[in-house]
Amino acid sequence: MKINADLHLHSCLSPCGDNDMTPYNLVNMAKLLGYDMIALTDHNSCLNCPAAIKAGRQAGITVVPGMELCTAEEIHCVCLFESVDSALAFSEFIHGTMPPIKNRAEIYGEQRIVGENDEITGYEEILLHLASSVTIDEVASLVKKYGGACFPAHLDRSSYSVLSVLGFLYPEMNFTAAEFTPKADAESYVEKHPLLKEMKLLRNSDAHYLENMLPPFQQLELEECTPKALIKYILGE
Ligand SMILES: [Zn+2]
Ligand SMILES: [Zn+2]
Repeated sequence: MKINADLHLHSCLSPCGDNDMTPYNLVNMAKLLGYDMIALTDHNSCLNCPAAIKAGRQAGITVVPGMELCTAEEIHCVCLFESVDSALAFSEFIHGTMPPIKNRAEIYGEQRIVGENDEITGYEEILLHLASSVTIDEVASLVKKYGGACFPAHLDRSSYSVLSVLGFLYPEMNFTAAEFTPKADAESYVEKHPLLKEMKLLRNSDAHYLENMLPPFQQLELEECTPKALIKYILGE
């Protein structure tokens, strides 16, 4: 079946995410825009995924729990999971790999953890946009251990992308998919980086504000509209 999907969205937990980007608001905006599936991928944390999944159940839209991991090289990778439990276990592991530097909300923005009714249940104290100690070579196998799948984010961006940091992809990264921004000329990247020929090429919005969410621009052919089917698709299984 064809699924309208945006697999890279930030909530108010991300220091750079708008406080109006609550799990409830972003899920319902996605529903209004016509999505069948979205993923919540805050920087280095999955703590708003439980609320987003509950909001998704109410709204009738599939929410995939996820995270945008910042590797030791400062490369962003979108990591997606089958269940909220595996996402939370991964999130706890990543928390332990982060430098113990506290967020300064007045500079970087608040990092709100929100419950199912948009109530603030806490604030993440460590600064989430710093790099974890997990390396780019470790990400794919680590995420797979948690039953998930991952891909390097926004390849066409000039910062925090594998191409802007390292300049190339190599087989040992073991990526089965890669992400571009919605308007990127992905074909020109495929010509320069032949490894991309073997990968699923995804496009996601990376919206941090409700007004930056886009009408559907990508349809994925999945067996069913579930996180499990999506992960199978990304892994090419
Ligand atoms: Zn990013
Ligand atoms: Zn992002």
